[in-house]
Amino acid sequence: MSAHKIIIAIDGFSSCGKSTLAKELAQRLEYNYIDSGAMYRAITLYFLRNFIDFSDHDKVLEALANINLLFVFNEETQTSDIHLNDEDVEPYIRDMIVSEKVSEVAAIREVRSFAVAQQKRMGRKKGIVMDGRDIGTAVFPDAELKIFMTADPEVRVVRRYKEMYATNPHITIEEVRHNLELRDYIDSTREESPLHQAADAILLDNSVLTREEQLETVLEWVKDRATNPHPQGSAVH
Ligand code: C5P
Repeated sequence: MSAHKIIIAIDGFSSCGKSTLAKELAQRLEYNYIDSGAMYRAITLYFLRNFIDFSDHDKVLEALANINLLFVFNEETQTSDIHLNDEDVEPYIRDMIVSEKVSEVAAIREVRSFAVAQQKRMGRKKGIVMDGRDIGTAVFPDAELKIFMTADPEVRVVRRYKEMYATNPHITIEEVRHNLELRDYIDSTREESPLHQAADAILLDNSVLTREEQLETVLEWVKDRATNPHPQGSAVH
């Protein structure tokens, strides 16, 4: 599309379809896709497995010193899997036990500094699509393209339920709804880089857009920003 590689930051509430869009963009543009939520999930998994008391800052720091996170490209799925201390933990990080605790862990200042430092390094060469909650506000405040995604809450619940049901047929829609509401609440009200739309992010409501429509719309925005890399600072709908 363009030789000029940019940074694409995608933020929004849980289960708005951020990762679907981000993965498709990365494939079309031959960019790296980084799922920043996977990092917070892998850290949470480590804390749970090792019975780390999240309320004890020294214990948190000690635990973080023993965590090594790496994204490894998976030829089969054509996307990157997160490895925690050399173990591919993709199969475990989306379990309900992790989803129930991840927002609490992600609200800890030391955990955010640890993850954000690594995320910033990954963006040095540009050509990256990263999704999360603070990518356009804290990780890449100078990203050429920032998107803030939203979707009807019920659409999000059903989407997440279908995803989780595939691996856990015992899950109920009520459990999924409760978890999404809780995470959105903690993510938007925490002290450390709470989830909010950056002033120069474009709002994208995908409740009614098809995947193809959404992708084509965003590819146009990318084309625009890649040739004119200075964001206009206005939210377009
Ligand atoms: O994106 P995903 O839903 O997998 O993220 C899991 C959790 O990780 C979020 O609910 C949020 O608490 C945290 N997170 C965050 N900042 C990011 C990405 C995720 O706080 N950039």
